[in-house]
Amino acid sequence: MTDVDYCVIGAGFAGLTAALRLRQTGRSVVVLEARDRLGGRTFTEMRPDGSWIDRGGAWIGPGQDRIQALMNEFGVPSYKQYTDGEAMMVVDGKQHRYTGTIPWTMSPWAAMNLGAVLLELGHLCKSVPLEAPWAAKKADKWDQVSLAHWLDGNLLSKPAHELLETAIAGCYTSAASEVSMLFVLYQMASGGGPGFVLGVKDGAQDARPVGGMGAIYRPMAAEIGESIRLSQPVRRIEQDPDGVTVRTDQVSVRARRAIVAVPLAVASQIRYEPMLPVDRSFLHQRMPSGSIIKISLVYDEPFWRHDGLSGQSVSPGSPATITIDSCTDTGRPGVLCVIIEGPIARQVGQLDATERKQAILGELGDRFGEKARSPIDYIEQNWSAERYSGGGMLSHAPTGVLTQFGHALREPCGRIHWAGTESSAVMCGWIDGAIRSGERAASEVLEHETATVG
Ligand SMILES: Cc1cc2nc3c(=O)[nH]c(=O)nc-3n(C[C@H](O)[C@H](O)[C@H](O)COP(=O)(O)OP(=O)(O)OC[C@H]3O[C@@H](n4cnc5c(N)ncnc54)[C@H](O)[C@@H]3O)c2cc1C
Repeated sequence: MTDVDYCVIGAGFAGLTAALRLRQTGRSVVVLEARDRLGGRTFTEMRPDGSWIDRGGAWIGPGQDRIQALMNEFGVPSYKQYTDGEAMMVVDGKQHRYTGTIPWTMSPWAAMNLGAVLLELGHLCKSVPLEAPWAAKKADKWDQVSLAHWLDGNLLSKPAHELLETAIAGCYTSAASEVSMLFVLYQMASGGGPGFVLGVKDGAQDARPVGGMGAIYRPMAAEIGESIRLSQPVRRIEQDPDGVTVRTDQVSVRARRAIVAVPLAVASQIRYEPMLPVDRSFLHQRMPSGSIIKISLVYDEPFWRHDGLSGQSVSPGSPATITIDSCTDTGRPGVLCVIIEGPIARQVGQLDATERKQAILGELGDRFGEKARSPIDYIEQNWSAERYSGGGMLSHAPTGVLTQFGHALREPCGRIHWAGTESSAVMCGWIDGAIRSGERAASEVLEHETATVG
């Protein structure tokens, strides 16, 4: 039995941040991580040529001050996402090249419809209180309808509908019918509105850390030190009046309090003794994650740039739904990332690996030309098949959940405190939100110490 001040469960950005901040105040901490690696839903793979691939979360944007603070702390610079050239949208097999957020090459009616709906979304987001979205004036109304229902009522143009549904539902990696409109408004508002969520330049994909996310989480882990135990899935957390006992198959940790920093979608894999309060327990049952496959294709050089293309493309319904330039700061080698989300990701995930690769390369060849068919490397990460993520990118709330159970997102349950991006009122769903949640959970447990001493 290891005896420490605090036990943190999960070594993603939320858990690592909580542990780092507690260590920096001189507390003893053990971090128990189920996987044999750090980073959780971020996963940076170093390549022999010194370049890197982010298999999970990769981008940062304005307003994400807490990840920026960590980057400053560990001396990690950032570089801008490549956005020169034209983006591409494919509708009914026809390619539309455009610049900016809205493909004005669609019919004027479709573009106007899209623009008006984006404005309306921005307006609605402003009426959602971030700390308590369930208290919004129209919370009950919005929580009764799905995103699909709302889009059907507001987007009458077919191409505009397809584009926005792909973009917004893509954020939740689920069908639009699965996600509550209140959750959409809340999550978008937590990032500053639809412009941030859907935009690349000045939006959520504005920049990347040099060296990938691993350039941040590795030095964090080094400072936390040997108290991080990998390959230790937590099976059980027992609470008693004096503390908690956290058990894996091999180790037991005795601590004053525990910080659980695992995705909501897998939080119920842990057995809690005594059982959690009903609302928290039910929240674990009601906030699933969606499906996402991220594929990185490596070429000698980013040939699409020479053709006047940014590498961004969207083709609703295609196996290579979204593409984006994912080169490192040096621009060599060329890395093009394919992101497949929601129901299509589940379908594509069922193909055998060779069929899937052929389907993806065929699509890219049609979109970017012959060179796209012959990458020198092809790296796939299917987050839906990850036991300790339960899907990706984030757990979302279906209809009725936020208004009924949202209050339980951050409320500690006795000596158990909750971190993880889903518990952050600001930048919920992003790495920055995970960091904020870790900082909040660390402060919570320290406040309890002060209260006890007082
Ligand atoms: C493909 C993809 C692309 C994304 N793109 C971006 C992006 O560009 N920018 C951005 O900001 N965000 C992005 N995200 C979201 C971002 O990665 C997450 O918001 C963030 O990493 C979540 O951090 P976390 O610490 O809350 O959870 P996690 O990273 O999921 O960490 C939780 C940890 O808990 C561990 N764990 C689970 N169960 C147990 C258990 N029983 N015992 C012990 N440990 C356990 C897990 O193994 C994991 O390491 C993306 C996500 C995905 C999947």
